[in-house]
Amino acid sequence: MSRPAVLVDAFGRRHTDLRISVTDRCNLRCTYCMPAEAIFRPREELLAYEEIARVAAVAAGLGAHTIRLTGGEPLLRRDLAALVALLVAVPGIDEVAVTTNGLLLAEQAHDLAAAGLRRLNVSLDSLREDVFERIARRRGLDRVLAGLAAARRAGFAEIRINAVSIRGLTEDEIVPLARFCRREGFHLRFIEFMPLDAEDAWDRSRVLSGADVRAILEREIGPLVAETAGDPGQPAVDYRWADGGRVGFINPVTRPFCDRCDRLRLTADGQFRNCLFSTTEWDVKRLLRGDGTDAEIAALLRECVAAKKAAHGIDTPEFARPARAMYQIGG
Ligand code: SAM
Ligand code: SF4
Repeated sequence: MSRPAVLVDAFGRRHTDLRISVTDRCNLRCTYCMPAEAIFRPREELLAYEEIARVAAVAAGLGAHTIRLTGGEPLLRRDLAALVALLVAVPGIDEVAVTTNGLLLAEQAHDLAAAGLRRLNVSLDSLREDVFERIARRRGLDRVLAGLAAARRAGFAEIRINAVSIRGLTEDEIVPLARFCRREGFHLRFIEFMPLDAEDAWDRSRVLSGADVRAILEREIGPLVAETAGDPGQPAVDYRWADGGRVGFINPVTRPFCDRCDRLRLTADGQFRNCLFSTTEWDVKRLLRGDGTDAEIAALLRECVAAKKAAHGIDTPEFARPARAMYQIGG
């Protein structure tokens, strides 16, 4: 299908992936994302499903064709499956995915699959309840595992597990997670810790690089072979073990993929962002709740794309953290 290529920035990057946060609320309090005591946006500030679907339709008209729903914890939004159904029906959108912590998946996996959701990313950093709790400040491992089993029963073809790597915290979780995912057929991806935590505890020395994680896996499990690059927009580098199983690495800190970035973001309270690390936002809620036209929404999105910087610049002296943390932006 030929698609319009309108969302091209000053560096020639074409934007086709829209990440939509549906809430800033969460039932965990991961230390790398949220503060222990979080204050959430009032509900009326969150975009309604119809408003989100309208933005998605405008973005699709400009060439976006994949949507990822995230948060906060997206499964906390009432009847998320209804939003999935609305988005799957948007002309030009050919894939809708959800990133979840999995706590509510056992209850919702079936309805999400029935609504047309095909891809599921489940975040899981440890298979030990005490470590899970130390990271997430809440218990919940059993529920995540039950959620994964339910997702499998609901027929999700590919289930990805995302695990954040933090030096001094997650090293001992790497091998058990990899063995579990190999056995269960889940596609595991390790993500480097980014400076987006709410308590400003990020420090370069706490980044456990993808290369370091890979070295641990090769030492403990066996040699990994790089897979030929698939989708060039994909930030992950995927590997295979000769005797089966895949593992991937998303290395935004040590191997930035900004030059291939195809992502745009819509926050739960209706702000466009052109980067996780953007310090500027474009207020689409004002248009949605005023009498803004679709043409005005499209113009705002193009303005947001046109202002995108070449790179996030985490390692540069000018780098400034965004005012909002991961749970408020949408990871
Ligand atoms: N609550 C859902 C979940 O945890 O999957 C969706 C939102 S969460 C913000 C999306 C992803 O961002 C999760 O995989 C989480 O581990 C990751 N994440 C959060 N804070 C991060 C950070 N500072 N660095 C790297 N990844 C982070
Ligand atoms: Fe919640 Fe996801 Fe952030 Fe953890 S990473 S606090 S589950 S939004």
